[in-house]
Amino acid sequence: MTSCELCGSIKPPLVFAEVEGSRLTVCRACSAYGKVLPFQQRFQPNSKTSGSKNNLGNQQALPLKKEPVTYEAVVQEYAQRIREAREKLKLTQQEFAKHITEKESMVSHWESGSIEPSLDTAKKIQHTLHIQLVEMRTEEPVIRSQKKSSAGLTIGDILAQKMK
Ligand SMILES: [Zn+2]
Repeated sequence: MTSCELCGSIKPPLVFAEVEGSRLTVCRACSAYGKVLPFQQRFQPNSKTSGSKNNLGNQQALPLKKEPVTYEAVVQEYAQRIREAREKLKLTQQEFAKHITEKESMVSHWESGSIEPSLDTAKKIQHTLHIQLVEMRTEEPVIRSQKKSSAGLTIGDILAQKMK
C-alpha cells in the first residue's frame, strides 16, 4: 500500500515530489513542502496511480480500438460438399485423390468428416470440383469483461467503483 512518506496519509492523490533533496511519495498536502515531479520518474508506465491532475501527460494510454477480424475458413459442411461434387463428376475417391495429388485415405477422411482439409487443400479441392469450400468469416472482437483494465484506472476510479 502506498502512503505518504511524510505524514502516512493514504488519501489519494499521492504524488511524487522532491522534498529537500529526497524523492518521496507524498500526499497532496505534503507536496506543498517540495517540488512535485512527473510520476513517470518513479512509477512503471502501467501503474497509473495519479489523480486527475496528472492525467494530461498520459493521453497516449488510450485503449486500442478493436476491429472485427475477417478470415478464411473451411465451410462446416465440407464433407457433404466434397462427396456430392465428386459423385456428380462420377469420380471414385481414388480417382479424385489422384486428381488433386492426395492420398485416397485422405479423401475418405474428408468425406466422413473426420479430418477437415487444410485451407490450402480446401482451395485446391474447390477449384477442382467447382464447389465452394472456403468462406469468409467475421469475428467480432470479444469483450471479455466490462471492467477496464486496471492499467487504465486511477485510484480515484477504483475507489469510486468500490463505493458502489
Ligand atoms: Zn502527507
